[in-house]
Amino acid sequence: MTDTTLTRLHAHEMATRLRTGEVGSRELLEAHLALIERQDHALNAWQSLDPAGARAAADRADTALVRARSDGQEALDALPPLHGIPVALKDLVVTRGQPSTAGSRILEGYRGAYDAHIAERLHDAGAVIPGKTNMDEFAMGSSTEHCAWGPVGNPWDLGRVPGGSSGGSAAAVAAFHAPLAIGTDTGGSIRQPAALTGTVGLRPTYGRVSRSGIIAFASSLDQVGPFARDVRDAALLLGVVAGHDPRDSTSAPEPVPDYASTLATDPGQAAEVLRGRRLGLPRQYFVAGMEPGVEARVREAVARLAAAGAEIVEVDLPHTEYGLATYYIVAPAEASANLARYDGVRFGRSVRTGDVLTDYLETRGTGFGAEVKRRIMLGTYALSAGYYDAYYLKALKVRTLIKADFDQAFEQVDALIAPTSPTVAFPLGARMDDPVAMYLSDACTLPVNVAGLAGLSVPCGLSEGLPVGLQLIGRAFDELTLLQLGRAWEAVSADDDWRRLEPTDLPRLDDPATPAPGVAPAA
Ligand code: GLN
Repeated sequence: MTDTTLTRLHAHEMATRLRTGEVGSRELLEAHLALIERQDHALNAWQSLDPAGARAAADRADTALVRARSDGQEALDALPPLHGIPVALKDLVVTRGQPSTAGSRILEGYRGAYDAHIAERLHDAGAVIPGKTNMDEFAMGSSTEHCAWGPVGNPWDLGRVPGGSSGGSAAAVAAFHAPLAIGTDTGGSIRQPAALTGTVGLRPTYGRVSRSGIIAFASSLDQVGPFARDVRDAALLLGVVAGHDPRDSTSAPEPVPDYASTLATDPGQAAEVLRGRRLGLPRQYFVAGMEPGVEARVREAVARLAAAGAEIVEVDLPHTEYGLATYYIVAPAEASANLARYDGVRFGRSVRTGDVLTDYLETRGTGFGAEVKRRIMLGTYALSAGYYDAYYLKALKVRTLIKADFDQAFEQVDALIAPTSPTVAFPLGARMDDPVAMYLSDACTLPVNVAGLAGLSVPCGLSEGLPVGLQLIGRAFDELTLLQLGRAWEAVSADDDWRRLEPTDLPRLDDPATPAPGVAPAA
């Protein structure tokens, strides 16, 4: 097979071909590395690459495959699910000996002293990690422009953002630089970039995936989850990283279903799960400012799910409008505490003048970018004596009300269905001077984090030639229902023309003259 054919495979197809011997893990890796090398100058999706480590892992996978093939079917079946398959990591997953910058100058030069829990899980599952992906600094952003090393482009239009903060992971998967990637979602950072790049992204329930070794942003909201090009692949990756970890006290001892093998491969069977399912359409999610093309695609998808047997019920989530305000008190407050550890002594950047206070101020002053400083100031203010009750405590009370809205809705329905993002990908720079406009990008995703629930974004067509995301929101720890519904949507829309389109700007990525995202071509 050619490099292009190899990189177009889904992870579950790679798994099958690796077992039959039709492809090798090293061959798969080289195809992806070649594409990254040729194209990333114009995409900037990758923060760092580890070709040597990845090649060693791929060679080990190939050796094990040869052995298993000679031992027979049982040995092949016993190989772990991601054996020999490339998986990209957002650059806030700490890995031993590798750079882990969280997109920040303050962690420039820092290398992980250990592997994050999910990195251990991925190694145990046989995954090959080509490198780390670019992101908004400390995951604060909705566009992957707040990056110390330049923004990421959207493979559908290089002049537009891929969404954020996990935009590097989303763009890498959309551009076929990896079949799978890990992101984090504190307020929408997996689902929103998935929507804007036409990929599948799942934010698991709070507590589903361990955050041990994940550089923290807002600890009561952060979750780790998968990006993929179809729902089955997202299920495969979630199954590997989900589950209890005693090193993260918020990680839940809930059983983890075998997501991937529970999902139907046959489209007819996949669509069957819609029969009799009650899906809630929250009135408040069709917000002012939503683009008509986005609303149209989402409503069309809802109608088609109904025609395939789902029952659609309009529901109210009356406190939705307070989601944004609540999030922007809670998240900065927690961030201001989490980021106190970057003091120039323990990790990364360290300015040394001989005076401790100067060192501290200089390290943080030059190490953090503008958005991070804004959040630290907001958070410190919200937690300060006199304002704590007025802001932080109030936000926690509203948080309870938002959660109660969802609890009530889930008494009537199996899942909620809504847009993921009110708009398609916006031009690079468009929201950089207006933080509130940037914050509004997550109006439809934030409430899920505030309530600690799970959400899945699946592509549902194009508006003005750009991808639109359909969001499914589920009960706590019911990722399986979301994956089944997402898979059913794929089956219902399998023959749609848009499903056969590749991101429009892929040919420009191949042109060495295409400039880095956000950089105007020389006149
Ligand atoms: N855009 C939101 C923020 O800036 C969410 C980010 C995230 O989910 N990491 O905080």
